[in-house]
Amino acid sequence: MQKTELTQPSHFIRQIVANDLQTNKHDGKVVTRFPPEPNGYLHIGHAKSICLNFGTALENKGNCNLRFDDTNPEKESIEYMESIKRDVAWLGFEWTQLRHASDYFEQLYQYAIELIKHNLAYVDSLSAEEIRLYRGTLTQPGRESPDRNRSIEENLDLFSRMRAGEFADGQYVLRAKIDMASPNINLRDPAIYRIRRVHHQRTGDAWCIYPMYDYTHCISDAIEGITHSLCTLEFEDHRPLYDWVLDKLQTPCHPQQIEFARLQLEYTIVSKRKLNQLVTEKHVSGWDDPRMPTIAGLRRAGFTPQAIKDFCERIGITKQNSWIEMGVLEYCIREDLNTNAFRAMAVLNPLRIVITNYPDDKVENLEVSNHPQRDEFGKRIVPFSKTILIECDDFSENPPPKYKRLTQGEEVRLRGAYVIRCDEVIKNEVGEIIELLCTYDENTLGKNPEGRKAKGVIHWVSQVHSCPAEIRLYDRLFTVPQPDNEESFLDVVNPHSLQILRDCRVEASLHSATLENRYQFERTGYFCLDLESTLDNLVFNRTVTLRDNGEKD
Ligand code: ATP
Ligand code: MG
Repeated sequence: MQKTELTQPSHFIRQIVANDLQTNKHDGKVVTRFPPEPNGYLHIGHAKSICLNFGTALENKGNCNLRFDDTNPEKESIEYMESIKRDVAWLGFEWTQLRHASDYFEQLYQYAIELIKHNLAYVDSLSAEEIRLYRGTLTQPGRESPDRNRSIEENLDLFSRMRAGEFADGQYVLRAKIDMASPNINLRDPAIYRIRRVHHQRTGDAWCIYPMYDYTHCISDAIEGITHSLCTLEFEDHRPLYDWVLDKLQTPCHPQQIEFARLQLEYTIVSKRKLNQLVTEKHVSGWDDPRMPTIAGLRRAGFTPQAIKDFCERIGITKQNSWIEMGVLEYCIREDLNTNAFRAMAVLNPLRIVITNYPDDKVENLEVSNHPQRDEFGKRIVPFSKTILIECDDFSENPPPKYKRLTQGEEVRLRGAYVIRCDEVIKNEVGEIIELLCTYDENTLGKNPEGRKAKGVIHWVSQVHSCPAEIRLYDRLFTVPQPDNEESFLDVVNPHSLQILRDCRVEASLHSATLENRYQFERTGYFCLDLESTLDNLVFNRTVTLRDNGEKD
């Protein structure tokens, strides 16, 4: 894959906006909005929409609002709103205004009265089931409701009584009067208000009728002076309704709806409803479980805003739905962390080495650089002593061909320290290796041994100086690339997506690791401190392996 280009590649929405600016279509303005429904945490698909909406505004010195589309109070909550604000801010975007569809409830109601007065909406007493039956199908036109020709006066009266709470939930709906024979089913007199007695997180019990999404969205956009209303492809068929409502009403402006393809990412799911199910049925530890494709999960796993934005730019904006490989996201985070993560050493499955010719009480404080290319990252102290720990699988009694780690009788370099040779393997009664006896060459600190070259380099920590740590290794959440296409996505949850290693040892400097920093544990992968970590019980999450296949040098 190519390196990030300095100039941004264009896409069709950039072109539309550039043309509109040239022709002064929206008075030379660019105003966008990101309109999540606060019914769950944001996921990587939302990041695509966030980058597009905020990015389009930024690139054109325009504005972008964060608007909560909060018209479904039974599924929405303040917790979700707070998480959404946190995640957008974490990605590095600032909204011009924070708005809520519920800010417009009164205006939306008044606009509905306008529609009724123009004989463009009516109160219907058909039940939800009857409305469905009357709607017709793709091949059959719908039938008109017996209430369709109710008088304007009667409609105004009934609608005001709907608001006043005189009717039971579901007893009436307000419908737009469009065309029951339209080939576009969305235009067959869609419901625009329903009666629902639910407490709203912001308006409390002030309303017992709530406006429907399609009706609310276009008017909210118009009230805010949005110029380009960017949404995903499934709303393409709703655009005629969006335009119908705005054409019929005297709204401040008429935004232009433009659709783009949703992000679909392999081996995961981007649907709040399904992610919610994973949380409530405890397949994961919460919305911020590092295996989740939520922004909160990615953050906890160690992803950076930069990597996510880079990913969104790379996948581009098109009108074709397609599946993106997880490898693309992993590539972006590796690129970022390779440049920006501190290097450190951690041993996940320790094997003890005693360096028999090293003085018993000696400790050398070796200076090791924090990044091989970035001197400005400075150096840290890594203590070296007689007893050290290496990875179990960095030693082999019966090495396969081309094995470049430690074997009996051979030499290997300890990263940033000396070359050692393994002289003897100590085993317990059942034949398991418990310790290696090695010797070191004291003339090999920072230079090759005389007349020979050690085969490989392995990482290590000093036993007494290192800290115990728990390390959590994450794998894909699903066992198949397109879990959405399965009968139930719950059937293909990966049972091995989390592996917890509790006997790890990390170098002393990691005792002061911070949540903000990212680390490359040499030869092992990229890691970050977990939220649950404490000074007594360090916990690290693996963000991503070093390479695609997770192999070591
Ligand atoms: P979900 O099914 O996960 O709830 P949604 O589309 O209902 O998704 P909203 O809260 O309505 O979620 O989304 C806010 C904005 O984010 C919308 O404009 C929507 O089109 C966009 N969005 C949601 N999912 C994706 C995705 N996978 N790719 C790109 N944009 C998305
Ligand atoms: Mg939704």
